[in-house]
Amino acid sequence: MELETPFDQRVRGRLAGFTEVARADEMKAVLQDLERENRELAQFLDKPQRDRYDVVIIGSGPGGGTLAHALRGTGKSILLVERGDFLPQEPANWDTDTVLTRQAYANTEEWLGAQGVPFNPYHYYYVGGLTKLYAATLLRFRAEDFGELRHEDGISPAWPVNYDEMEPYYADAERLYLAHGRTGEDPTEPYRSGPFPYPPAPVPPEVRDLRDRLGRVGLHPFAMPEGIALMSGGRCLYCAFCDSYPCRVLAKGDPELCCIRPALRSPDVSLMRRAKALRLETDATGKEVVAVVVEQDGQRRRIEAGLFVVSAGTVNSPVLLFRSASDRHPHGLANSSRTVGRHYMRHDITVLMAQAPEGHLLPQDHFWKTVGFNDFYFSGGADYPYPLGTVQVIGNYHSWMSNLLPEGFGGSAEERSRTAAKMLPIFNLTEDLPRADNRVELTDDDRIRVTYQANNLKSHTRLVETMTAKLKEAGYGPITAKPLIRVEQGGGYHHCGTVRMGDDPATSALDRHCKAHGLENLYVVDASCFPSASACNPVLTIVANSLRVADHLKTRL
Ligand SMILES: Cc1cc2nc3c(=O)[nH]c(=O)nc-3n(C[C@H](O)[C@H](O)[C@H](O)COP(=O)(O)OP(=O)(O)OC[C@H]3O[C@@H](n4cnc5c(N)ncnc54)[C@H](O)[C@@H]3O)c2cc1C
Ligand code: SF4
Repeated sequence: MELETPFDQRVRGRLAGFTEVARADEMKAVLQDLERENRELAQFLDKPQRDRYDVVIIGSGPGGGTLAHALRGTGKSILLVERGDFLPQEPANWDTDTVLTRQAYANTEEWLGAQGVPFNPYHYYYVGGLTKLYAATLLRFRAEDFGELRHEDGISPAWPVNYDEMEPYYADAERLYLAHGRTGEDPTEPYRSGPFPYPPAPVPPEVRDLRDRLGRVGLHPFAMPEGIALMSGGRCLYCAFCDSYPCRVLAKGDPELCCIRPALRSPDVSLMRRAKALRLETDATGKEVVAVVVEQDGQRRRIEAGLFVVSAGTVNSPVLLFRSASDRHPHGLANSSRTVGRHYMRHDITVLMAQAPEGHLLPQDHFWKTVGFNDFYFSGGADYPYPLGTVQVIGNYHSWMSNLLPEGFGGSAEERSRTAAKMLPIFNLTEDLPRADNRVELTDDDRIRVTYQANNLKSHTRLVETMTAKLKEAGYGPITAKPLIRVEQGGGYHHCGTVRMGDDPATSALDRHCKAHGLENLYVVDASCFPSASACNPVLTIVANSLRVADHLKTRL
């Protein structure tokens, strides 16, 4: 592999050219390091449980996990309540059959679709939330995403905060979550107060080839910011099992590694695992939340606190608020505007598969998610002046790759596998708009229903067609397109918007600090607070926003 920078060389040097023996040695050393860290962690886990804390945070994904970390050291007692457990570190983490074909780590209950048909959303309830299997892409929203943006299919509304307010928190979020990237390449990149904390991940030859060929036909490739512990002293082995797999060696920039484990070292921060929050209770005036009822290993407990933060994810946060309905709050907490559960967004997504002109089988041990293209983020050209979205090379899914080919393409199962093994997968992602009818609800028999009708599809189709044409011009072919538009297609991974923040209590559930309108001490900090989805991957914005809310909370505690 041709080497690009001294950092690439160090990464390669560390892996000693990918020889099997060197890799096995490296793996052994890394696992020993992890075992030592796990032994150390054991002494900070399972602190004595109390009946009252200063702050209770429900849900340990990037919203809740980051907040617990940011509030450590304030001298206040903090309890993180998580319905899942730690995701096991085991060889099966990197087994495609286990992870992708059988979805053995997915542990969500069934949800109902619009027509009442049950489906498995393939979500992950673990310490760290959905990020345990995320692709670690840490993209900032564009500055314009925080203002009102006109799309072909309607308006993407403004946030109550702007990019300038968010910028310092983005910088902190990138440091905290180990962002490796390079500034100055992405034409839509917003202002930044400093460079990325770490240099970009090395680009493997087949992706570099794509990058260069698309560069020659006029696109502006940029190094994809990735949160992985590749830097000196980090455990990342720079393997090909990152996107959509758990990390066997705990080296992804996720809440477990970056926030929860370090926060647990503080005597003030406790984690309650396998503990599902069932409902929140308010005082007699209905103005303050006083307790959460939690079920842990079959036992119910009532825990009081001065401040409550809900961060159970875009579906479970509104569900918890609905289940907390009372005489004072007949439609659920934070829901006097009746917006809770509504404006569900999840991005319009299509995966293109593209074969390079040489048509070689692609290496199976390379990390691919290293390059993106934002040339059409804000416009489809002079004749189509509307935003189209972002384009990203995604990870290697190994034997599962043929599932990204459209039905009927490529003949027998064996032929489809052989064809897919020669193709690079390319994610095309368009912003969908917050529509009130796209919503999360509870049915009369207390089941979760998610109703979603995709929108902004003309722009999405335009993005897919434009990229297909560019890939053809660059010499790629065949090129296939598989849309993942329906929420039942396991496509709710970027979901957001169901407990939106805004300045007007009539049209939003939360104020600009993510505090519920009309309630003194209830906050929501996961992706459900997003007023719009942008076309960027959500995690860095969830983390930055959580850090922003933490600064506000520190003035109250
Ligand atoms: C395969 C995959 C790839 C992805 N790749 C990327 C990427 O590269 N970049 C990116 O930005 N985003 C990516 N995402 C999306 C990203 O992971 C999510 O946007 C993000 O995790 C959402 O964070 P959250 O805090 O809103 O909620 P979650 O991560 O869903 O966390 C919510 C937590 O609350 C817990 N919980 C739920 N209900 C309760 C309850 N009642 N009581 C107690 N606990 C509860 C859950 O178990 C969970 O741990 C990916 C997701 C997946 C699945
Ligand atoms: S590339 Fe991803 S999955 Fe592989 S070791 Fe690094 S962080 Fe873990």
